Amino acid sequence: MNDKIGVYLGGAGTIAIAGHTRPDGDCTGACLALYNYIRKNYPQIQADIYLEPVADVYKVMENADQIISDYKDDKTYDVFFALDASDKGRLAGAVRYFDTAKKTVCIDHHISNEGFAMENIIFPHASSTCEVLAKLMDMDGVDQAVAEALYIGIICDTGCFKQSNTGKETMVIAGTLMEKGVRFSQLTDEVFYQKTYTQNQLLGRCLLESFLMFSGQCIISVADRKVMDFYKAISSDLEGIIDQMRVTRGVEVAVLLTEIGHMTYKVSMRSNNYMNVAQIAGYFGGGGHIRAAGCTMAGTKYDVINNLTRLIEEQLKNHD
Ligand code: 5GP
Ligand code: MN
Ligand code: MN
Repeated sequence: MNDKIGVYLGGAGTIAIAGHTRPDGDCTGACLALYNYIRKNYPQIQADIYLEPVADVYKVMENADQIISDYKDDKTYDVFFALDASDKGRLAGAVRYFDTAKKTVCIDHHISNEGFAMENIIFPHASSTCEVLAKLMDMDGVDQAVAEALYIGIICDTGCFKQSNTGKETMVIAGTLMEKGVRFSQLTDEVFYQKTYTQNQLLGRCLLESFLMFSGQCIISVADRKVMDFYKAISSDLEGIIDQMRVTRGVEVAVLLTEIGHMTYKVSMRSNNYMNVAQIAGYFGGGGHIRAAGCTMAGTKYDVINNLTRLIEEQLKNHD
């Protein structure tokens, strides 16, 4: 039995599992994979899973209906697992359970993660938190449900094995998961490629309104409140848009702004070859990876774009 999860459980009776705010596929996959793994292999443990509401496509994963999104219960846990969260502030409402847990464990792959839990398992070279989890789990204890959650996390964070964070190990793990009966073709279509009509409309709108800067090396678009309201869209409807912007020929960096409140923008950034977007996001209090990062910024969209493009221009110039 090569089960490292058991080491972190350390005889716990109750555990909480939580991911980051606005959960993506890796975060949701990691939380549900760990939850299902513990339910299968440690049925005596009482496990709760906390995440903000997840996009409908992730509900194909087993026990997605067990997710608790209101953070109201006044519970304390023996062990708290923070997954795919690069800092404590990313845990959203679950931070109250982090603060009162007897032991906290962080499992992550963000380069910007400085280790905010009591025990930290951070592999910055892994494609995804799901890849890290797969290494910690005993494959004999991984059933189809666990394997599918892990596989979904991996495809979401690697853009279906095409982004530069994909390594040999990613492929080896994906192959092992396939042997567990993962419906990879169907899940890739349903979770990654399929879009709702609204999502396609938004994609079109964001591409139409995008603009280029710095001789076409930077592409920027803004999904402001009125656009989001017009399409009755939620933030997860924007997933994938930044990736389409990034593949514009000649572009090194893509920036998508989403208005999430009055004079407040969520910033998503992606780069292609050399720009360190984690550094730029980090400067504004966010984080992420070298080629994919984000932050939240205050001001008008013009303020936000001005502040971001100053740092973008610096990196473009230094590279020339
Ligand atoms: P996305 O653009 O898809 O929201 O995020 C890209 C990457 O940056 C993800 O790995 C995500 O965890 C990270 N990220 C996005 N927004 C923030 C933020 O506000 N703070 C931190 N620390 N990381 C972020
Ligand atoms: Mn994530
Ligand atoms: Mn991730």
